[in-house]
Amino acid sequence: MILVLIDHDQSEIDPLSLRALTAARKLGHEIEAVAIGSDGAQLAAIVGEYGATKLHVAAHDAITDYTPMASGRALKDLVDKFKPVAVLAAGSPRGNEQLAHLAAFLDIPMAAECSEITLGSPHHVLRARWAGNLIESAHVHSELLVATLLSFSVEAESANSGVAIVLTFEPALEPADSIVKVLSRDSGQSKAGLTLSDAKVIVSGGRGVGGPDGFGNLEELADLLGGTVGCSRVVTSSGWRPHAEQVGQTGTKVAPDLYIAAGISGAMQHIAGMKNSKTIVVINTDPEAPILRYADYAIIGDLHQVIPALTSAIRQAKG
Ligand SMILES: Cc1cc2nc3c(=O)[nH]c(=O)nc-3n(C[C@H](O)[C@H](O)[C@H](O)COP(=O)(O)OP(=O)(O)OC[C@H]3O[C@@H](n4cnc5c(N)ncnc54)[C@H](O)[C@@H]3O)c2cc1C
Repeated sequence: MILVLIDHDQSEIDPLSLRALTAARKLGHEIEAVAIGSDGAQLAAIVGEYGATKLHVAAHDAITDYTPMASGRALKDLVDKFKPVAVLAAGSPRGNEQLAHLAAFLDIPMAAECSEITLGSPHHVLRARWAGNLIESAHVHSELLVATLLSFSVEAESANSGVAIVLTFEPALEPADSIVKVLSRDSGQSKAGLTLSDAKVIVSGGRGVGGPDGFGNLEELADLLGGTVGCSRVVTSSGWRPHAEQVGQTGTKVAPDLYIAAGISGAMQHIAGMKNSKTIVVINTDPEAPILRYADYAIIGDLHQVIPALTSAIRQAKG
């Protein structure tokens, strides 16, 4: 049996978990899912549709929100009891963090961000390193494989199966397991209520925007296209925009229909977060900027002129 961690935020499933379920299904074992927190029980229909026969729900008074060490402990309880061949999760920051705690509790290795998995003795994985610039072929020498799936390496495919059976259990948590917990929340949503992960259009700005005020034009264009604003790390570390908007290796990995990169050079850590976008439009003054290698369309020019011109042309076209 393969156990797949279904990451959810107050019962809203992370779509990457459906991709992880799909990848797990292809490994030829029965799939069972696990959700942390009693509100995870609401996911029985969706995880069932994507092939899980059972949904284990870890319920405990100390699990009221995201508590990654408690997740690791709950997963360990399931591993001890059911002895799966693998525990998998999405290679999101949260998926990586929770499975790293599991691996630490079990004192075994963890393979993060795998694009291919072959179960065996030893297990074999291909995994992305250095922001996806290196693909590592590795053997994992542990009986149980603990691994996360590289974001967007597999499409989510429904198995058209029924609702999973919900099995609630109380993990044997220790006080230290809830030492890392959520104290407050910043929704990270745009005015239209979109987050980077669910936006179909992202208008992203880098150092070339010049400062926090320059983002007004990007917000206007994003609103007009029904999207949201993203940015590079230079922008968040300068305090121009919140971290929730950062795209990249240490921000959010995105794959919208349209990604507009304005004043962003294309460092590999940024590319790692947006290269799966369906259409990439680059606006840059430098015709040699590395990001142009990934562009479907490029406008060589000053974003302070190009973006208002685009906004006005789209407004006119929309009548
Ligand atoms: C461990 C690690 C993790 C990292 N994680 C991330 C991450 O998650 N996300 C991320 O983005 N970065 C990340 N970085 C930082 C990354 O290496 C780059 O420093 C950063 O992405 C550069 O941001 P930028 O493209 O906005 O700035 P720059 O590299 O300075 O590029 C600015 C661009 O704007 C163009 N420009 C200037 N003025 C204009 C104008 N008026 N109109 C149009 N174009 C203009 C310039 O030609 C240039 O191409 C990470 C770095 C490390 C070491």
